[in-house]
Amino acid sequence: MTRLTDKVAIITGASSGIGRAAALLFACQGAKLVLSARGAERLEAVAQEIRQEGGAAIAIAGDVSDEAHHRALVETAQTRFGGLDVAFNNAGTTGPVGPLPELSAAEWQAVLGINLTSGFLAAKYQLPALEARGGGSLVFTSTFVGYTAGFPGLAAYAASKSGLVGLVQVLASEYGPKGIRVNALLPGATDTPMGRHVANTPEALQFVAGLNAFKRIAAPEEIAEAALFLCSDAASFTTGTAMLVDGGVSINRV
Ligand code: NAP
Repeated sequence: MTRLTDKVAIITGASSGIGRAAALLFACQGAKLVLSARGAERLEAVAQEIRQEGGAAIAIAGDVSDEAHHRALVETAQTRFGGLDVAFNNAGTTGPVGPLPELSAAEWQAVLGINLTSGFLAAKYQLPALEARGGGSLVFTSTFVGYTAGFPGLAAYAASKSGLVGLVQVLASEYGPKGIRVNALLPGATDTPMGRHVANTPEALQFVAGLNAFKRIAAPEEIAEAALFLCSDAASFTTGTAMLVDGGVSINRV
């Protein structure tokens, strides 16, 4: 028995990095998937890879800051796969990296739209679908940045991602009685295009890797395993958490 047998899951940011690793892992674990990202070609390639291995995956290209996209993802889960059980709301952006006074109000709003308002929009459509199913699990990808550690140049990123932790706590208490679990996943530095964009020189990479107890950055597959746990019934008594998967960066002092 696999961990997501017959479960229907939405994964956003599924064309790359952590979301792609989660899509491949969730498919191996029996989930039927509705995959989201903006770039249609890269996203379809992931869906095709899953279908070639005998899995079920539909790619829907769109922007997570767009309300209609979330409606379309949930409707696709319902019309093509019969309902929704799980959503891994994972897409995100750092936005421009630099001192706050150099950030325009429009850039700030754009980062909040992609990282935080997207969480509201996702939950708005996903929660009624989970209720109709009698329960389920929502996971939002946050980060240790702005939760347990400051990180220069990432003010909008930190503010928007830590906002997700508040959202998760309220939704967990509101929807727990209905059998819906809601959790935040807080990765540490991970070897993805986003991770490489932030740590974009050998020196920066060495600095970032040196922050955690293992002195290396995570593989996206290691973060996907934690997402699988939170999304699956293995986490049946876990809700309202901000689960750090950061290699101990938050407790490390040497
Ligand atoms: P990644 O490899 O760059 O992948 C980002 C994914 O999100 C891509 O599929 C991208 O596809 C999609 N995406 C970006 N903006 C989008 C938008 N507006 N609408 C829809 N899809 C969008 O990044 P990653 O490292 O896997 O990041 C995944 C999540 O982990 C993010 O929320 C990030 O903040 C978080 N995180 C990452 C790290 C790290 O070190 N990598 C650490 C902590 C937390 P398109 O560009 O085609 O849309």
